[in-house]
Amino acid sequence: MNPLFDNPDTEVCPACGSAGPLEIVYGFPSLEMMEASQVGQIVLGGCEHSGTVPAYRCRDPKCQHSWGDVS
Ligand SMILES: [Zn+2]
Repeated sequence: MNPLFDNPDTEVCPACGSAGPLEIVYGFPSLEMMEASQVGQIVLGGCEHSGTVPAYRCRDPKCQHSWGDVS
């Protein structure tokens, strides 16, 4: 487990109901963030902060719904 990132087990996809979504992390990725994204722990959101900035993405590849708000 990587202690840098929360595992949002309590979040549930509002579109399909899948639990435990991927956390979307914004900003220039560190090496640890790149590794975490490669093993499917997080999603890299990039540096762009225009429009909506969702906090989570559904881990179901058929859904990929994004929701939440980065605070
Ligand atoms: Zn979903």
